[in-house]
Amino acid sequence: MRADQSLFVIVVGCGRLGVYLADHLSRQGHSVVVVDANHTAFANLSTEYSGFKVEGDATELAVLKQAKINEADVVVGATHNDNVNLMIAQIARKVFNVPKVMARILEPQREELCHTLGIVTICPTTLAGDGILASIRGFSTPAQEGADPCTP
Ligand code: AMP
Repeated sequence: MRADQSLFVIVVGCGRLGVYLADHLSRQGHSVVVVDANHTAFANLSTEYSGFKVEGDATELAVLKQAKINEADVVVGATHNDNVNLMIAQIARKVFNVPKVMARILEPQREELCHTLGIVTICPTTLAGDGILASIRGFSTPAQEGADPCTP
């Protein structure tokens, strides 16, 4: 972490999630590098984004080194591919000793393995599922609300 408490964060994948994270973190004053294999993805960043962009396949060590992974406080795997996110997370953790490593994982069954490897996971599948279940739990139909409690 820098002296001013700002963090150096590498976001891998400049899709919907990556853009959201990179834009917010940059606006919050953190140093951000966003990596994507496809340079057209960077066009979705906001005009205020003040971080760096690295084009390349983030499963290649040279690309991660170009992003200065050896100096990163946080690395986030935010591509649509669980395997890519996991591979990057493991390289960040085991090879470069990055203190905080996070991966977006769509397959809930992979989460336990990630936790044993010291990787924090965010699973949109379970987040959406839990949100929908909670919403259904609190829902009753108009007929149920007005129903006579004595009626079987
Ligand atoms: P999304 O489809 O919104 O989840 O975006 C995923 C982004 O991750 C896309 O812009 C892809 O080009 C990018 N991406 C996927 N695999 C890699 C990779 N190995 N290295 C760098 N970027 C990647």
